[in-house]
Amino acid sequence: MGNGSFNVIRCPACSTCHGRKGAPGSCPHCGQHLGEHGEVLKTVHSAEALRIEVSLANTPAELRDALRQRIKGNQPLSQLNEETPSRIMGKWVVDSKNAEGVLTVQSVQRTLDQNHSNLDAVEVIEQAEVQGMLVRVDEVRWMLLE
Ligand SMILES: [Zn+2]
Repeated sequence: MGNGSFNVIRCPACSTCHGRKGAPGSCPHCGQHLGEHGEVLKTVHSAEALRIEVSLANTPAELRDALRQRIKGNQPLSQLNEETPSRIMGKWVVDSKNAEGVLTVQSVQRTLDQNHSNLDAVEVIEQAEVQGMLVRVDEVRWMLLE
């Protein structure tokens, strides 16, 4: 795992983009089953490129230039998000990975429990997928894009 190609997929139901290895499955944001209805916007060949493309695809057009500037300037993408909870959530997602950079609903739930959070592990994962932090590798596992 780690290399290969990734697709940036747009959900026709909610217009949210997410990254995925292989063919579209279901939308992490609204749960819509995608199959061949998922629109593959772009195929990239590194986790880093996927992270950037998903972030860009989910950024409103008027903010995209600012985001590109930040990426070029090598500033962490997390600084774009002014909401503290998202930043903490991102840290928890990172804390939930195993040695291979893979995480599951259970591992995220464990981290949430340790931090006395009542957030839902599935929602945290969906959020991280929409932000381009995670890509789903199969039905129960996600890979952290770092
Ligand atoms: Zn959707």
